[in-house]
Amino acid sequence: MTATTATPDPVPILSGGRWENVATPRFGRVYNPSTGEIIARVPMCTAAEVDAVVRTAAAAWPAWAATPVVGRARIFFRFRELLVRHADALARSVTREHGKTLAEARASVQRGIEMVEFACGIPSLIMGQSLPDIAAGVDCETVRHPLGVCVGITPFNFPVMVPLWMFPVALVCGNAFVLKPSEKVPLSAVRLGELLLEAGLPPGVFGIVHGDKECVDALLTHPEVAAVSFVGSTNVARHVYEVGSRHGKRVQAAGGAKNHLIIMPDADLEQAARAVQAAAFGCAGERCMAGSVAVPVGAAADPLVELLCGQARSMRVGPTDDGGDVDMGPVISREHLERVVGYLDIGRGEGAVVALDGRTLAPPGPGFFLGPCVLDRVEPGMRVAREEIFGPVLSVIRARSLEDALTLGATCPYGNGASIFTRSGHAAREFKRRFPAGMIGINVGVPAPMAWFPFTGWNQSFFGDLHLQGIEGMHFYTRQKMIMTRWFATAQESHQDPVWKSKSE
Ligand code: NAD
Repeated sequence: MTATTATPDPVPILSGGRWENVATPRFGRVYNPSTGEIIARVPMCTAAEVDAVVRTAAAAWPAWAATPVVGRARIFFRFRELLVRHADALARSVTREHGKTLAEARASVQRGIEMVEFACGIPSLIMGQSLPDIAAGVDCETVRHPLGVCVGITPFNFPVMVPLWMFPVALVCGNAFVLKPSEKVPLSAVRLGELLLEAGLPPGVFGIVHGDKECVDALLTHPEVAAVSFVGSTNVARHVYEVGSRHGKRVQAAGGAKNHLIIMPDADLEQAARAVQAAAFGCAGERCMAGSVAVPVGAAADPLVELLCGQARSMRVGPTDDGGDVDMGPVISREHLERVVGYLDIGRGEGAVVALDGRTLAPPGPGFFLGPCVLDRVEPGMRVAREEIFGPVLSVIRARSLEDALTLGATCPYGNGASIFTRSGHAAREFKRRFPAGMIGINVGVPAPMAWFPFTGWNQSFFGDLHLQGIEGMHFYTRQKMIMTRWFATAQESHQDPVWKSKSE
């Protein structure tokens, strides 16, 4: 698909294996955040359009569910080869519509490919259990069944990786799938759909719709939808969980985050500062696993803030879509840029000190640029300590002791990730046992799990029971059936006919 500023193309939906343009009156704009240019128009699907795609998927589902799991997995082996072959182009697509650097985009595509590799192994994971003679002559087994039509609703910050957290596992498990990518970054998702069809997925089994709340609510309430996977901000995650559950869907909804990085005075401070810098400012801070609160303990504070500000000041911020050698790209939109910058004033108004103002490090527009920002002397009750900013703004809370640092988790509504930097096994052990977050790093800045492990957000960072990724992800997309079997010997088998005798007399 080509697009120009003058006549940006509409983004098609996918239904029944065909790409279609939608005749909706409402369209959104897709930007290249590096230039501010509009690169596509995305249709805001109505309930009627959602209904048609879901019903097409539901009609395709029984034949797909009846396809042997090894056959389903084989399509994903081919899909994996296509993803590898087109990885660079996919990364460029991510950079173009999202703005992250090409290196960051490549890493995210690689993480997505690993999800497909995980999905290719599902035939061994989906096997049930059995116990013969659970009572005399009675055997018991469990088998896993797919659910039906599953839906994925994804955020803007990982246009390839987050959709790949969902549909490869759902489809290999035998479900049909309808994806609703973020309306801010729909183009890479369309490319994934094209490659999936090229890999040989039967038409209709996978669909794509586009839109905002109207489209999402139509999916959440559709009678043919069995399960919903959501990744996005906490308020929307809660809405998706509540509405989806009320309508009888199985729901997993991953939300926002505020992740703490504790730096003990015994840590290698240079190493820790580099890790904090990467965790806070990687992907321009637009990561649910971004380290957005640094918590230096005791004497670590002054040298850490000095090191961090020094390193961050040298980061090159600029356009990412022209192959330029930069460390940080733009944020997603002008509106988001203004929101993020607004937090500098909010922090200052609350008594924090702006130790580094990223506005001075950003190139002028038309792209949506902001350099790394450091807010020092933040207190736990401040908005900049508790709210997700989702941009390159690091809050620094200076803690007097490990004990004080450990209590910070309870002052924050989220519970995605948290890390400690220390050489002390005792401090690390206390931290991993007591800090109320689902993903823990020890001398690791971004403890985001790979495909084989679950993405275990806690508290307001996750709504539901079974997380995305790993075996939990496979469990989410299947339901178990327990089968208890007893066979009675017929009269012929028991006694009369020697052919059937199982014991010699
Ligand atoms: P968002 O919540 O605004 O949008 C996510 C999806 O929900 C999009 O597809 C969007 O169209 C839809 N949506 C938006 N508003 C809606 C509404 N009112 N009703 C129904 N649907 C709606 O999130 P975003 O800004 O695209 O992404 C950033 C957020 O995602 C951050 O909060 C980030 O922490 C979170 N995130 C979480 C994880 C995780 O694993 N926990 C991973 C990536 C991103």
